[in-house]
Amino acid sequence: MEDKFKTNILDKSALKTNGTVNYNSIGTFLTRVKEKNPGEIEFYEAVKEVIDSVWELLERHPKYLHSNILERLTEPERVIMFRVPWTDDQGHVHINRGYRVEFNSAIGPYKGGLRFHPSVNLDILKFLAFEQTFKNSLTTLPIGGAKGGADFDPKGKSEAEIMRFCQSFMTELYRYIGPATDIPAGDIGVSRREIGYLFGQYKRLSNEFNGVMTGKGAESGGSLLRPEATGYGLVYFVNEMLQAHNKSLEGQTVAISGSGNVAQFAAEKSLHLGGKVVSLSDSDGTIYDPKGLDEEKLTFVKHLKNEKRGRISEYAKKYDVTYLENQTAWNIPCDIALPCATENEIDEQDAIALVENGCRCVAEGANKPCQPGAVQVFLKNDLLFGPGKAANAGGVAVSQLEMAQNSMHTQWSRAEVDIKLQEIMSNIHSKCITHGEADRSINYIKGANIAGFIKVADAMLQQGLV
Ligand code: NDP
Repeated sequence: MEDKFKTNILDKSALKTNGTVNYNSIGTFLTRVKEKNPGEIEFYEAVKEVIDSVWELLERHPKYLHSNILERLTEPERVIMFRVPWTDDQGHVHINRGYRVEFNSAIGPYKGGLRFHPSVNLDILKFLAFEQTFKNSLTTLPIGGAKGGADFDPKGKSEAEIMRFCQSFMTELYRYIGPATDIPAGDIGVSRREIGYLFGQYKRLSNEFNGVMTGKGAESGGSLLRPEATGYGLVYFVNEMLQAHNKSLEGQTVAISGSGNVAQFAAEKSLHLGGKVVSLSDSDGTIYDPKGLDEEKLTFVKHLKNEKRGRISEYAKKYDVTYLENQTAWNIPCDIALPCATENEIDEQDAIALVENGCRCVAEGANKPCQPGAVQVFLKNDLLFGPGKAANAGGVAVSQLEMAQNSMHTQWSRAEVDIKLQEIMSNIHSKCITHGEADRSINYIKGANIAGFIKVADAMLQQGLV
């Protein structure tokens, strides 16, 4: 069987047989992805990165190509798109577009965050849901991949407007989700406050108090340490990378972008492990604090961003440090860079500046913050590079621990969750090493993609053509 197939994939004339498409090169397959998903640049780039990493494996194990696993893996199982009508405090009617991309349920129920941001569109959500499928697989936990959200901007909205929007969004979404079907969580613009409103409306419509959402407040069944999990997990992963190269975080200068959930807790854990955090940012600019943050300054940031919903420039005023208006953190000298804001925030020029200023390690707290050209610069210069699907997987991992606690009707202590989180990040790191080791260096991108791929692909093969 395998021999016959080998001739098939090498023979271009056999590309199409009986309506079945086999791919004889990465190029052939990627061209088809581009044609099938016109204009979806983010999604295409995410697919390309995974396929580049796993192609060699596919050639060694033709069962994957033979069963057309690539095309099955790059087609979402289901995409839901819906109207979200709501009224503002003046009684004006607004219409937003809501989405849920249920990408892959081969290894467990769909799981992934909801994003409320004006930039949300189908391309971004397909890319995020595709990434999430491999990230969730890497955690070794039984969760499939999904992502959702709306092109709604929570900035400047009143508490009542946010609540009405969340309730309207859930009034449509609730029929597609459930604790054994699809379990959404937070992402950009969706934090504990929004999760609370979304969960409240789900409970009202379904008449069930269950683990349908994660990231809930502890009083509503949320896991302790979930807010901290992505940022803490990121720094645990960085620590693993450094230790594997006989280094540590102690005394290292860390540049962080963003000042939301991931950035705040990445900063906190970096401080705990002896790092000096010199920057934070938001979409208006960056603060540069050469003396470094401390616990008191971090408490100020948390209050500013989570309660007051203010701008990071206020930090610069309060602590009399440099404010780089409309600029990023990537020209600031540092040993470690942790992009924790959004997609594509580090381009090739930024990457060159980071390398020239002495940066030796970059790990993605955000999803795909480094553009492909930037990643190439890091790899060429032998930086330790932790891709988001490995480095920021701590959040979804603790989300799954929240699901486990909800189904057992119990709550674990902070310390218990923290130990499990550290174990999970350490396991993810080991998997990256197992599959990414090459020529005495480690390609964490390749390692993460291969490890994530094998589990999902094997589960799909076991379950037949569904
Ligand atoms: P938040 O909404 O809490 O914070 C986002 C931060 O990024 C804010 O400081 C925001 O600034 C800034 N930001 C957003 N868009 C832009 C932009 N276009 N340019 C510059 N800055 C921007 O989100 P999270 O911290 O939860 O998420 C951050 C990233 O981490 C996202 O990529 C998300 O997908 C990823 N992630 C999050 C997880 C989680 O558990 N929360 C899990 C895994 C990944 P401003 O206030 O001005 O908008």
